Amino acid sequence: PEAGSDATATQATARLEGDHYVLNGTKVFATNGEAAEIYTTFFSTNPKRGARGISAFIVEKGTPGFTFGKKEKKMGIRASPTYTLMFDNCKVPQENLLGREGGGLLVAQSTFDVSRPGVAAQALGIAQGAMEESLAYARVRRQFGQPVSSFQAIQHKFAEMGTRIEAARALLYTVARRIDADKDRRWTKESAMCKLFCSDTAMWVTVEAVQACGGIGYMRDFPVEKFMRDAKITQIYEGTNEIQRNEIAYHMIKEAASKKS
Ligand SMILES: Cc1cc2nc3c(=O)[nH]c(=O)nc-3n(C[C@H](O)[C@H](O)[C@H](O)COP(=O)(O)OP(=O)(O)OC[C@H]3O[C@@H](n4cnc5c(N)ncnc54)[C@H](O)[C@@H]3O)c2cc1C
Repeated sequence: PEAGSDATATQATARLEGDHYVLNGTKVFATNGEAAEIYTTFFSTNPKRGARGISAFIVEKGTPGFTFGKKEKKMGIRASPTYTLMFDNCKVPQENLLGREGGGLLVAQSTFDVSRPGVAAQALGIAQGAMEESLAYARVRRQFGQPVSSFQAIQHKFAEMGTRIEAARALLYTVARRIDADKDRRWTKESAMCKLFCSDTAMWVTVEAVQACGGIGYMRDFPVEKFMRDAKITQIYEGTNEIQRNEIAYHMIKEAASKKS
């Protein structure tokens, strides 16, 4: 729980004993916890080394000492369970170490390079769905004797939604194609850019989609309020958007510095 944006602050530990590691600690907020059979987890194998002491492990559901805590009650993505993972003297074979000891952060960071575009795709789908639902409603909802889609104030919302969604799609597909073409390269900056842009697009579009629908947009009977609740998490998980901005700027500054020398 202590480690969030700063994943290196983890208090969870792994101790090598013979040919097994003994895992102890708690991981809050695990997506698809309890439902998944296999878990990629991070423990400190050497707390003195800080970030360089973190190692990645595979843990299978059902391993003695590995249990599930609280199921979170969430604002959105309620179809995906989020659980606390608990490790109490959980023994895993040495071969469950993923990569090398102390290389956990590299495992996490290189996974983010390919998983962040996945969150971007989730966000893009949410934005597209919200726009389609609200546009369909605005065409049939009549006020002042005409469809609300005939009011320029509403039309401009759709113009902005459509443009932002196309820009998000173009960025995401471009980055995905680049990743496919060169899997050996690190794509940290680009994957952070698509996660940031697509999730901010989803949040903006879904808020506007609710607004374009008026009161019905706020009701659970109608799908756009769900899109709005589901959009929020895409700005938070797989690294918050503040962290994405930090990473993008870090890489831009590093690239600029390397061009000068
Ligand atoms: C539904 C859900 C599912 C999740 N699933 C998983 C999962 O499967 N696996 C997993 O590992 N994690 C998962 N997480 C955790 C998620 O990745 C973290 O919640 C997220 O990284 C933020 O960490 P935090 O919640 O501790 O916020 P904090 O780190 O406490 O951040 C609080 C605020 O401070 C800001 N902040 C922090 N540091 C900086 C900084 N250096 N610069 C600028 N701003 C900063 C943050 O952006 C945020 O706005 C999940 C979270 C949720 C809510």
